[in-house]
Amino acid sequence: MATLSNVIEYEQMQKILSEFTRLEDQCYLDNAGSSLYPQHLLHCVTKDLLSNVYMNPHSDKYTKDCVDQIRTSILRFFNTDSSDYSVIFTSGTTQSLKLLVESFQFSYDEQNCGSFVYLRDNHTSVLGLRELAAEKDVDIIHLNHDDFLKALNAHHVTSVTARTRKNKNDANTLLVYPAQSNFNGFKYPINCIEKIKEGCLDSFIKQHLCKIDCNWYVLLDAASYLSTNKLDLSKYQPDFVALSFYKIFGYPTGLGALLVKNSSADVLTEKRYFGGGTVDIVLSNEDYHVKRELFHERFEDGTLPFLSIIALKHCFDVLHQLIPKMVNNDVMDTISYHTYNLAKDLYLQLDKLYHKNGNKAVVFYTDSEFNDISKQGAIVTFNLIRENGSYIGYSEFQHISDLFRISVRTGCFCNSGSCQRHLNTTNKEMKDMYKAGHKCGDEIDLVNGRPTGAIRVSFGYYNTYKDVDKLILMISQCFVPTKLKKQNCVKHQLIRFSRKNCLKEEETQLLNEQQYFNKINFIEENTFDAEISLAEMSIFPIKSCGAFKIKSSWKIGPKGFEYDREWMIVKDNGVCLTQKQNTQMCLIKPKIDLKHRILSLNCIGMPSLSLPLDMTDSKKTNTSFCQSKVCTDIIQGYDCGEEAADWVSNVLGVSFLRLVRQSNEVNRLQKKKKDDTGSKLLSLSNQAQFLLVNKATVRWLSENIKDPQFTDNLQQLADRFRGNIVIDMEQELVEREWQRVIIGKHEFKVEGLCSRCQMICIDQNTGEKTVEPLRTISEQFAGKLRFGIYLSYIGTVGGSEDRMLKLKSSVKPVTNDDDISR
Ligand SMILES: *Cc1c(COP(=O)(O)O)cnc(C)c1O
Repeated sequence: MATLSNVIEYEQMQKILSEFTRLEDQCYLDNAGSSLYPQHLLHCVTKDLLSNVYMNPHSDKYTKDCVDQIRTSILRFFNTDSSDYSVIFTSGTTQSLKLLVESFQFSYDEQNCGSFVYLRDNHTSVLGLRELAAEKDVDIIHLNHDDFLKALNAHHVTSVTARTRKNKNDANTLLVYPAQSNFNGFKYPINCIEKIKEGCLDSFIKQHLCKIDCNWYVLLDAASYLSTNKLDLSKYQPDFVALSFYKIFGYPTGLGALLVKNSSADVLTEKRYFGGGTVDIVLSNEDYHVKRELFHERFEDGTLPFLSIIALKHCFDVLHQLIPKMVNNDVMDTISYHTYNLAKDLYLQLDKLYHKNGNKAVVFYTDSEFNDISKQGAIVTFNLIRENGSYIGYSEFQHISDLFRISVRTGCFCNSGSCQRHLNTTNKEMKDMYKAGHKCGDEIDLVNGRPTGAIRVSFGYYNTYKDVDKLILMISQCFVPTKLKKQNCVKHQLIRFSRKNCLKEEETQLLNEQQYFNKINFIEENTFDAEISLAEMSIFPIKSCGAFKIKSSWKIGPKGFEYDREWMIVKDNGVCLTQKQNTQMCLIKPKIDLKHRILSLNCIGMPSLSLPLDMTDSKKTNTSFCQSKVCTDIIQGYDCGEEAADWVSNVLGVSFLRLVRQSNEVNRLQKKKKDDTGSKLLSLSNQAQFLLVNKATVRWLSENIKDPQFTDNLQQLADRFRGNIVIDMEQELVEREWQRVIIGKHEFKVEGLCSRCQMICIDQNTGEKTVEPLRTISEQFAGKLRFGIYLSYIGTVGGSEDRMLKLKSSVKPVTNDDDISR
């Protein structure tokens, strides 16, 4: 019996897991992004909504009472009541923060400006508050992590006049900090609120501007903390607490709260806006309104999301039913210890990962060593390092973990302060990277070999030790290999720098793709006298299905090869099905029979189905569908009928699929930079008309794959790339530098490198998923998944009218274009 938790007993843990069966084999490790809701919760909510009539609380006393009842439950959840705190409903933490600063009165007269003080390691949503504070003409002061902790931990209050009572004439200072960092789960002290109020941070205030002492107010950003921790407001009393409910319960989204300590409510005087529900009287033709008497009503503009609030009641109930009170007789404390232990286990296991040469494989970005639960939450943030000391980019990690169905968060997680502090990035470097094109949330994970972000793993109560083990297994399988096949570095003379392993240690240190290819520089004029020939041509008549290999020649149409990706399988929601979602699609082998004008659908174990290539207009049923989940272009087409729909539904084991064909009348234009003239027509292929793959590069890749479990032969490996045009030559990788290619009598323009995703990990013969070759491509190109080049058709050369492309034609690359800016 596997150990699932050392806090929650096995049977109880099994019961919890039964609430998340929808995960199937997905390993969810992004609790800090959002918690997950237990399935039973939705049943409770639906049952409630189906059996009660909830009306607008402005119209209906009953609904309003229910909502107010839930305010009481919220306060009880935080171990307090309405005599001490008030609940203002908001759309989430971010709105709570904004509402507070908008309403906060920093000063009572002109001279005393007041201050807005924030910790640099706050979430981005807090940093944005300085813009609101700036409008109020207050001093804006940021504290660094170490200074902040040092001041809070100091024994003596540094202020000249320690005071406990606020003075009406003093300016007000608002301090914002997180109870727990969303970056690495470090818990900032919340037991120092009294000390802060007594002035332990006074030395940071610009005394010269703010002559008189300030009254300190504390706004605690509890969003991250609350997801796995108990906040006891009877023990620690921040003036204001901002939170989002989805981070605790996973549902509902769009609902949060600002908790306000009643004795501090009198500083919230500056809210300007009023809306429905916030005023007692308003005149429409005169500047006259009086805000509501009841505190929270003044802040809740418009109609509350009352159905979401009603769902909250069930959130509390279901969590209490589901989680046994193992620690301190408390649900949240139980969650806290359970998740902390998982994180600690992961931390300790990662800490033990070493490469064969003795180098550590993991660098942590923690502020605690996981030896004190009061200082550390259930989050582990780190990066991985290769044997040679270079970093593995977080995008590379992300691609691999997607493949393993492990959900983690990568990047900077909306916390640039912590990110900069831990990655040692200066402001100038941040700006330079931005100028170089790196933005928050993109895939540029390494700049000059240095990481721009990290990997964050966070645990929820539904996680177990099994999840930790799954992640560790993936990391040791893919990134910290224990057994490597010996590499033979000088086998091919033509390979100069093709293997990173052959570079000297220091050379590889700062290797990224750019430098890598600058170094290679192996293109010289006229080196292509050697034969390059068109070895294979394939079309993929049905998008994401198997290839149809061309025997001798094929016609180039206005959108690429004729019949290439002209059909598509569409789900009942109108969205196209891809191999990513259904790996079995590659087992469907469409064939085009030009002689009999037939498209035949074939799959082992199924009778084939023939469809006419030509349809009379009267037989066409028009339909429209979306190319991808993000429905950016809607494609017009026509349905291929019931028989075809049943056939594909049967083969793939998915109900209500339809086979559709793109209308010839509709033309999709290739997505391109605006200044580019001559946009090309596209069929349903993803980005370009043709994909060219160089067999030599495939061979090179194959030699670099070290995983003994990966048994593809060269042809199988080449097939994974689903190229239309496969060329054979001696040199690998050179195609990446080409600008144009002439094949036989046809000229093509290179549109760029193809960024390959998980599709290449699907064995095109079996539909099985493997880690390779993605892992090796990622490793060889420093995390950039690029393989093959996109082409678009320019036209025939030498006055030929012939639109047929023939196998074995000679291939002539052109590299001397002016445009080498790619
Ligand atoms: C998630 C989070 C926020 C933002 O919460 P929203 O729900 O996106 O408004 C703010 N601060 C911290 C510490 C967080 O973890």
